[in-house]
Amino acid sequence: MLTNLAVRDIETLVHPYTNLAVHREVGPLVLERGKGVYVYDVSGKDYIEGMAGLWCTSLGYSNEELCDVAYEQLKKLPFTHIFSGRSHDPAIELAEKLKEIAPVPISKVFYGASGSDANDTQVKLVWYMNNALGRPKKKKIISRLKGYHGVTVASASLTGLPANHTDFDLPLPGILHTSSPHHYRFAQPGESELDFSARLAAELDEMIQREGPDTVAAFIAEPVMGAGGAVTPPEGYFEAINAVLAKYDILFIADEVITGFGRTGEMFGTTTYKMKADTLSCAKALTSAYFPLSAVLINEPVYEVLVDQSRKIGTFGHGNTYAGHPVGCAVAVKTLEIYQRDRIIEHVRKVAPTFLQRLTRLAEHPLVGEARGVGLIGGVELVKDKASKAQFEAKKAVAAKSVSFAQDEGLILRAMGGDRVAFCPPLVITEAEIGEMFDRYERALARTL
Ligand code: PLP
Repeated sequence: MLTNLAVRDIETLVHPYTNLAVHREVGPLVLERGKGVYVYDVSGKDYIEGMAGLWCTSLGYSNEELCDVAYEQLKKLPFTHIFSGRSHDPAIELAEKLKEIAPVPISKVFYGASGSDANDTQVKLVWYMNNALGRPKKKKIISRLKGYHGVTVASASLTGLPANHTDFDLPLPGILHTSSPHHYRFAQPGESELDFSARLAAELDEMIQREGPDTVAAFIAEPVMGAGGAVTPPEGYFEAINAVLAKYDILFIADEVITGFGRTGEMFGTTTYKMKADTLSCAKALTSAYFPLSAVLINEPVYEVLVDQSRKIGTFGHGNTYAGHPVGCAVAVKTLEIYQRDRIIEHVRKVAPTFLQRLTRLAEHPLVGEARGVGLIGGVELVKDKASKAQFEAKKAVAAKSVSFAQDEGLILRAMGGDRVAFCPPLVITEAEIGEMFDRYERALARTL
């Protein structure tokens, strides 16, 4: 029986990333409030938010300090844009803090409102810079199959998932995809992680050679693939990729929209995986998702090009109304302060062994082919046959089934690609709550099939 709210939802909303045909029948999960790592639906039932919302509510729910700072800023100056040289204290303070902690050689910060628009900015900056430098052919951008970079026309093109391209007439020409680094699924039989990494780097090298190195401008990658299945990179992967990119003067864009701010047990995944990135996109945990805000970290050579072009054109013709929103910036400043003051990264390192131990223990279940993670992010792959790694037919949607049972058991997770399930709880989760999270998923798995 659908509740009144559910009926009204079905009558009014188009939900992102939802099977809309199924939704019309089953209706929504309507959440009302949250506290710590728990959220509660309108009937009062509790759920552990095992996905930190969408990989983002790093400090959990109802953090009073974040609410207070947002309210204070709303009362003081709820909005000013930062076009035409206008500015405000929180935007400046946040940029200073980001410069302090950035794992890339950053000169300046460019704000947006979502991870998608941050990556859209990255694409536009690459094109703009190469035109300005008199290299109009150097425009292609290489991304990875199963990579996720957002939904705008450019960022959805970077995304390497079929649902983001099919019937949207994407990807844009000039955006290419190289292989996914998912060792469990794509390595050849007996191929070690190091050999797999070397093979993928050689494949990238060949792609660059084939396209012409003077036509390839940038490579973009998430340290840990998120929507592509919560996939950690194989051993030696980014070292091998770094070496290829360095050979051809190709800009390396790190998409840290999920991994930024402690998720991997370091402030940035770029550090965890020794990625020699030139520039970086971040969002989500930048404000613990209490306000939509993203940032692109821009290096000095790119910044100087933007200044030169302004001299010629009269302006830097890019940016949106909510870029550097004062409330978002104030919340982000407080969020970064809390990460530091409460030693959140130390906390992640302390609880990660328990998280990873319980995650990998799932592989003992007959349905689980792979269970792997880093810090407080991990993915499991459900398979028809563990020995052969044979997958279920897509329409069986076994991962979605297990996630639906998990919801029943009081745990929110995310199914991806038909057979993978992601875990990405708030960074403040305790060891006891980690135990409870996996207990609930184990009960859900026992009910699956
Ligand atoms: N990049 C990565 C790695 C992401 O995981 C996401 C969203 O999940 C995005 C970009 C897009 O961010 P948004 O949904 O805020 O546009």
